[in-house]
Amino acid sequence: MQVWKFGGTSVGKPERMHSIKNLITEDGNRKIVVLSALSGTTNALISIGESLKANNDADAVEKIDTLYAHYEEFIEELYSTPEGLAEGKSIIEKEFSFIRSLVSIKPFSVKQEKEIVAEGELLSTQMFEAYCREQGVKSALLPALDFMLIDADNEPVLKFTEEKLGSILSQLTDKQLFITQGFICRNPRGEVDNLKRGGSDYTASLIGGAIVAEEVQIWTDIDGMHNNDPRIVKKTFPIRELTFEEAAELAYFGAKILHPSTITPAKMKGVPVRLKNTMEPSAFGTLIADKTSDREIKAIAAKDNLTAIYIHSTRMLNAYGFLRRVFEVFEKYKTPVDMITTSEVSVSVTIDNDEHLDSIMAELRQFADLEEVDKDQTIVCIVGNFSADKEGIALKVLEAMKNIPIRMICYGASEHNITLLIHGKNKAAALNALNERCFLYEDTMKEIFSAP
Ligand code: ADP
Ligand code: ASP
Ligand code: MG
Repeated sequence: MQVWKFGGTSVGKPERMHSIKNLITEDGNRKIVVLSALSGTTNALISIGESLKANNDADAVEKIDTLYAHYEEFIEELYSTPEGLAEGKSIIEKEFSFIRSLVSIKPFSVKQEKEIVAEGELLSTQMFEAYCREQGVKSALLPALDFMLIDADNEPVLKFTEEKLGSILSQLTDKQLFITQGFICRNPRGEVDNLKRGGSDYTASLIGGAIVAEEVQIWTDIDGMHNNDPRIVKKTFPIRELTFEEAAELAYFGAKILHPSTITPAKMKGVPVRLKNTMEPSAFGTLIADKTSDREIKAIAAKDNLTAIYIHSTRMLNAYGFLRRVFEVFEKYKTPVDMITTSEVSVSVTIDNDEHLDSIMAELRQFADLEEVDKDQTIVCIVGNFSADKEGIALKVLEAMKNIPIRMICYGASEHNITLLIHGKNKAAALNALNERCFLYEDTMKEIFSAP
């Protein structure tokens, strides 16, 4: 069985829902379809939650009314029979009456905040499943809240999904299409929770891993993983093949097309992941599996809003145990470190989550002489085949960066990653310069020299 995930823009209009119904039923194969909320809905729900948190109920009600009107219009175009429309109407009535019921709950807590953002996926999946049934498809809705679970560290519990989903599916042997919510899950307290923004990709991969799917397909609004961020760089192109490791690095270091953790479960279970464009289904897209290609530098991504901490200690000279003490502090505050560079007497690290920065700094100060903190840092991650016997790759990267100040450089930690840390304000310049030097220049040269 395959798992296909459609993102917000892919389900954001009634006609898009019509075309994805055709797309998923075309080959006649059974599949699990994971849907995001309609584009714009999660942001709208977050904003409603913010109004409620600020006790601005009138504002919240106005926003709820606007969102409701959007759904009322949407279902008018989605369904073509009175029965279908009646079912659509009852779905939106039910979910919006729940959303409205949250207005009276005081104080508005994190629990309600999570419940409200879950409504986007609950709406889109029920509406789409009812539409599929209206069109004669043997579909069933799989409630993600029954089989998606995170633990106390917010990590998905794959074993739980394997067992629960396996048993649910074994009772639905007559169904052709299973539709479920991306993004949402339960936490150990049994409450509604989620896998963080963009989490539907992660859901698809977790389900793919749990059922050891033949393939996971992520359908979005672009023809695969591009070699650079298309929102910032003009001349980018889709990459046909990536290894799990390469794709994982790109996703983790900011390629928005994939939630940062998407690749982990698929890789663990050896399930290929294919990225496809809903607007252009015949385009090849990107296949993420074990196979690699010859190209050295394959893609570049960037991750923003990092904090760099510079830790200096003369006691590090010839000392052992210093790094252990440094990392114990980050471990204590459950703060992952992204990038590390060391010299004889100092170490620089970057962190994404600076929630505990003050406590971390206070503890580091107990054994380090000097620390500096730089905010608004950006990691630029260059991904490809960089085995130790290859020459000239770092030179190309540094040549491209000749006019851009670099705060940290990591090379050699893995064979498929070079990472640079720069100030956030230089990100666009860095991505464009790297694109010119590592892709456009290379390809122009190749064309010139291979011309007959
Ligand atoms: P969805 O709603 O389908 O989950 P997203 O907006 O989360 O879609 O992801 C798709 C978007 O990711 C693209 O429209 C593109 O602007 C952005 N993106 C950023 N980096 C890349 C990249 N390297 N390759 C492709 N798309 C990228
Ligand atoms: N709807 C959620 C979001 O907007 C999850 C997703 O789209 O993947 O973040
Ligand atoms: Mg997304």
